[in-house]
Amino acid sequence: MNETDSISIIEESDKVFANTYKRAQIVIDKGAGVTLWDKEGKSYTDFMAGIAVCGLGHCHPAVVNAVKAQAEKLFHISSLYYVEPQTKLASWLVKSSFADRAFLSNSGAEANEAAIKLARKYFQDKGEKNRFKIITALKSFHGRTYGSLSATGQDKIKKGFHPMLQGFEHVPFNDIKALKEKTDKNTCAIMLEPILGEGGIILPESGYFEEVRKLCNNTGVLLIFDEIQTGIGRTGRLFGYMNFKIEPDIMTLAKALGNGLPIAAMLAKEHIAKAFVPGTHGSTYGGNPIACAGALAVAETIEKEKILDNCLVQGKYFKKQLVNLQKQYAIIKNVRGIGLMIGAELSIDGADVVKKALEKGFLINCVQTNTLRFVPPLIIKKEQIDALIEILDDIFAGL
Ligand SMILES: *Cc1c(COP(=O)(O)O)cnc(C)c1O
Repeated sequence: MNETDSISIIEESDKVFANTYKRAQIVIDKGAGVTLWDKEGKSYTDFMAGIAVCGLGHCHPAVVNAVKAQAEKLFHISSLYYVEPQTKLASWLVKSSFADRAFLSNSGAEANEAAIKLARKYFQDKGEKNRFKIITALKSFHGRTYGSLSATGQDKIKKGFHPMLQGFEHVPFNDIKALKEKTDKNTCAIMLEPILGEGGIILPESGYFEEVRKLCNNTGVLLIFDEIQTGIGRTGRLFGYMNFKIEPDIMTLAKALGNGLPIAAMLAKEHIAKAFVPGTHGSTYGGNPIACAGALAVAETIEKEKILDNCLVQGKYFKKQLVNLQKQYAIIKNVRGIGLMIGAELSIDGADVVKKALEKGFLINCVQTNTLRFVPPLIIKKEQIDALIEILDDIFAGL
């Protein structure tokens, strides 16, 4: 393949792709750790991590080596047979969480589909045919497939795609009263993100999840945590729920699980998981050996390199530096986050700040138009945070 320059690639892309993404005008060529390089050799410090995906940074040697070794051995076999890396990954997930059983798939949306299907089937098996209602949060994001899109609590994402799947209702996040009022005899599950990611890094108020858990215990409603963004260390704990003294009944993971390999998981307690029997659910690629080998390397590296400790220490430092900036610039309305999932809400549209940061060699992102989102690799160091803070200081000073 001949090397093509960036401008040609951008022009060609704009002709051949379905127009679903607004892309920054750079062509990324390679990455290592928290650094990315474009085709012209300009370097960028990555505070995006492919949207909270590359927790260990780009091309972590442990993941690269695991993928290489597995690629030379076996690509794919389907889940009609046993294969070692798949079993080892599921064992690690089960051992490390509240759950007893795992279903592996390829993307976050698919993991959520599995969770939705399992919750409904659990009650159908018990003869509760009308118990199919699922309550989620306004401003939530659960994916783009019809089930996960129906679960998503944002009209702007659904516009043009109606009708949605039946049986989804939404209430404001952090409003336990609204949740109680919506919960009735037809409710099968409450599905929540521990921290709303795409919704603007919205944190649960203290005691909220304990109340939600209590409501679920009292009514038999299942609690599903969508941990696709918060899971695998993002909040400084392996799973987000570990911050809140409660356990869900079902949990979904994706993003950081494979550090960039397409892999996701739906985890559940034994008595619920039992509703899935052979033939009820499946996925051709789900649990693909290469993706599983990579995810296993992620699991081992998190422990070996004390990734969670770094996430907590650097997350705390990062937030403190952002709060210091907030004291200088009234434009920063609020700084919030847990671990390395941090948002800075602005009183203006954030797109211009994102663009200026890119020009200066930093990848950041903006959600809900006015909240800068920082989800860097969990291996980020103080010096890299300092460098970004200095750039943000310059940008805000010039606005
Ligand atoms: C990214 C995300 C999804 C969707 O994951 P895909 O892999 O894009 O399907 C679902 N839920 C949450 C909380 C996410 O952050």
